[in-house]
Amino acid sequence: MEYEVVIGLEVHAELSTKSKIYCSCTTEFGGEENTHCCPICTGMPGVLPVLNKNVVEYAVKAGLATNCTIAEFSKQDRKNYFYPDLPKAYQTSQYDLPLCKEGYIDIEVEGEKKRIGITRIHIEEDAGKLMHDEWETGTLVDYNRCGVPLIEIVSEPDIRSAEEAKAYVENLKAILEYIEVSDCKMQEGSLRADVNLSVRPKGQKEFGTRTEMKNLNSFRSIVRAVEAETQRQINEIESGGVVVQETRRWDDNKGVSYAMRSKEEAHDYRYFPEPDLVPIVLEKEWIEKVKEALPELPDARRKRYIAEFGLPEYDAGILTSSKRLADFFEEAVSKNSNTKAVSNWIMGDLMRILKEKNLEVDQIPFPAEYLANLIGLIDKGTISGTIAKKVFEKMFDSGKDPQVIVKEEGLEVVSDEGALVEVVKKILESNPQSVADYKSGKEKAFGFLVGQAMKETRGKANPQLINKILKEELEK
Ligand code: ADP
Ligand code: MG
Ligand code: ZN
Repeated sequence: MEYEVVIGLEVHAELSTKSKIYCSCTTEFGGEENTHCCPICTGMPGVLPVLNKNVVEYAVKAGLATNCTIAEFSKQDRKNYFYPDLPKAYQTSQYDLPLCKEGYIDIEVEGEKKRIGITRIHIEEDAGKLMHDEWETGTLVDYNRCGVPLIEIVSEPDIRSAEEAKAYVENLKAILEYIEVSDCKMQEGSLRADVNLSVRPKGQKEFGTRTEMKNLNSFRSIVRAVEAETQRQINEIESGGVVVQETRRWDDNKGVSYAMRSKEEAHDYRYFPEPDLVPIVLEKEWIEKVKEALPELPDARRKRYIAEFGLPEYDAGILTSSKRLADFFEEAVSKNSNTKAVSNWIMGDLMRILKEKNLEVDQIPFPAEYLANLIGLIDKGTISGTIAKKVFEKMFDSGKDPQVIVKEEGLEVVSDEGALVEVVKKILESNPQSVADYKSGKEKAFGFLVGQAMKETRGKANPQLINKILKEELEK
């Protein structure tokens, strides 16, 4: 029997407002434990929350950027549950009247475009953090994250593979970064996804029973969790069992998921309207203003790169996949009009080094202008392509301008003919066999001799000149 996987994602993004959702505590990540909190975000009796207006604006931006309808009237609700990371014993969230609904984003997997529906986006508060690992004798809790604003973006069950799930989260992340409502740092937990997944025989209309895996915080773990859970459900069905609706914990180290608890229903949470907060009423004009102020989104930017810079669709897609990368590209292009070279350096050496050094784009230790300068040095013939690659590595170590590195280390191309003649003579003397080979018609020997001469000058010789001199000397 052939099976089809059905996936719906619930993505949580921490909003990058300065203060928390209902108090003026900072939202800054980390900090000494329990120092970013106050009676409000720790749920002391008798306190009153006040909604941070920026949270509403950021969530509306996210809704507009994902083609949602924005509710002119919405409200907040209490979602009750008892857990030590939640001192209020309820999370203020939104239940039946979310801020945004019925949107979509487009993804592309292996050249095929597809539209993924967004059911809703609502605002809510984050919980604290439990620390089990470091203390064998007990669990400690840090409430700094309590009350950090979140948006939860719920997708329709439109996703059909691990690749589509990855593409969806990548696109969503890019959009949220572009509109600057979240820093989307997955390793710090500011963007995390819950994966709802079921399987059904191919061709069947009804969905199968789903499980939910919570808090996946890397693309790799999303892909692996989807693949493993798909297989687990198929095996379960094939061996005559049934899939149980439950919440599972994905262990990324072991590559397996464990049943955590049976799935709770909405009534388990005893949702009711938050009595301490008034409904959120938005004016049409205000929503319109937020919409007009939206920056260029990834899709539009990609199209512009193709039209304006003549980049291939593939290159434009990669460059615009992150706002920071696209900004870096544009900054470099504004200083050097060799667009194709800028794009090639970014897509090739830059991405490779970032990966090797495990760096994010905003951790590049030099301004984009320095990349423009490096390309300028090559185009003017001051340095060779081979030397340029070495200089680029050095820029990552020192953060220095390539013009400075080239000067300091004397890396300019040697075009002094007299000096190069000496080099060539020396090479011919020490390689009599290759000279004989060349004279007996073996063309390959010429290339070897060029290589030796370049090596002798540590890559700095002007290659055209070396070629010319070598020919002349061999003719003699
Ligand atoms: P809950 O309120 O219990 O979280 P929802 O109906 O809001 O459930 O759905 C949560 C997520 O699960 C959504 O992203 C939705 O697309 C997805 N989903 C719902 N049914 C299925 C299913 N049968 N298989 C896979 N995903 C599903
Ligand atoms: Mg849910
Ligand atoms: Zn507080």
